[in-house]
Amino acid sequence: MGHKHADPQARAHAHSATHSIPRRHFLTAAVGTAAALTTGLSGRRAFASTPTFPEREQAWDVLIRGGRVVDPSQGLNGRFDVGIRDGRIAEVAQVIDPAGWREVIEVDGRIVTPGFIDLHAHVFEGISHYGINADKYCLSRGSTTVLDLGSAGAQTFSSFRKNVIEVQATRIRALLNISVTGMLTNLRGELQDLEYADVDRAIETIEQHRDVILGVKVRAGSDQSGPNDLIAVERALEVAEAVGLPMMMHIASTVTPIDELLRLLRPGDLLTHSFRRSGTPESGDEGILTSEGILRTSAADALERGVLFDVGHGQGSFSFDTMEMAMRQGVLPSTISSDLHAYNIGEEGPVYDLPTTISKFLYLGLSLEEAVRRTTATPAAAVGWDVQIGTLRVGAEGDVAIFEMQTGEHRFVDSYGAVRVGQEKLVPWRTIKGGRTYLPQW
Ligand SMILES: [Zn+2]
Repeated sequence: MGHKHADPQARAHAHSATHSIPRRHFLTAAVGTAAALTTGLSGRRAFASTPTFPEREQAWDVLIRGGRVVDPSQGLNGRFDVGIRDGRIAEVAQVIDPAGWREVIEVDGRIVTPGFIDLHAHVFEGISHYGINADKYCLSRGSTTVLDLGSAGAQTFSSFRKNVIEVQATRIRALLNISVTGMLTNLRGELQDLEYADVDRAIETIEQHRDVILGVKVRAGSDQSGPNDLIAVERALEVAEAVGLPMMMHIASTVTPIDELLRLLRPGDLLTHSFRRSGTPESGDEGILTSEGILRTSAADALERGVLFDVGHGQGSFSFDTMEMAMRQGVLPSTISSDLHAYNIGEEGPVYDLPTTISKFLYLGLSLEEAVRRTTATPAAAVGWDVQIGTLRVGAEGDVAIFEMQTGEHRFVDSYGAVRVGQEKLVPWRTIKGGRTYLPQW
């Protein structure tokens, strides 16, 4: 109230549209070109290579017929058929002749979107204590692409690549943890010992795995980094600068004041757990809102300069109250991600999967299109892949998610046990990737 950013729409648009992301984070090469390098405005390498997705080789042709297509990248929201050939989007039209397609999926008015991009999950199954199975919890429920955020560090990354990235059908890419171990155990935070935040090893690992590492992750929080948070963030930034990639900072009860940490984020960097509890007298100085519930100047400034505020719901990082206070001041998340991990997928959730997180935002008043933009076009642009994924444009990867919108009374719980009852729930029905169709696994 009385805050300088009082117009929710203006602010929401200013910070949700993909054009707010600095040019250096865009990959501008056209689909299908062999352009292997792209150079940012600064002249340094922004993204190492045009991604090639080998799963396309086994693809066959699929026609998805009679759905309500919601593709914010093209402003599509209506009845369209979608044809996939050789694993790429071949045609989107109001009617496509079903003759001659190897597989025709009649979707009967269900919702058809580009495959979701979950910008925050933990899928280093079997090694990291957080790790879950990507194909079960992500791909089968609509997320064709997942970013693993720091489960692996310089000394565990080759195993992550060999045993997870190259094995799962989900397209998995990663942000490398600034800690050499990544997130192996919950007995001791990965940055409690500053020696683990090794700049040279991180740079070397990123150079070796540039095709799958898209940035640097650092967890600033009392349990993860303790008093080392500021130095760890500075080292993560040093790595990000050296390799020309974004950095993502996790926040949770930081020892260093949040204002100091937020000030360090550059345009195109990401903040995750942005809407963890803050804005109440009990939460003190913890998040993006002051204890009086006002958006911090440091947070407003970060948004102004193009820092992306990601959700990263997780087990302890999403508050309905905080989100609503932020929305009243015109702040919406830039991207909606799940932070799916071993401790929030069980019977008590509270995350379960990305479509459930989206449903919470439908309850909060986002339109389906606004919510889908934040799991498709915007995260794709955040990692510089907006031409290839997160879109149903002809020539893009043939990643498609199909959902049912279940109406009725649906109970949604945030990370702090607050319950809201929504009228709509997005439920996965089929996911298509590489020309293959996946049924939801529960
Ligand atoms: Zn996480």
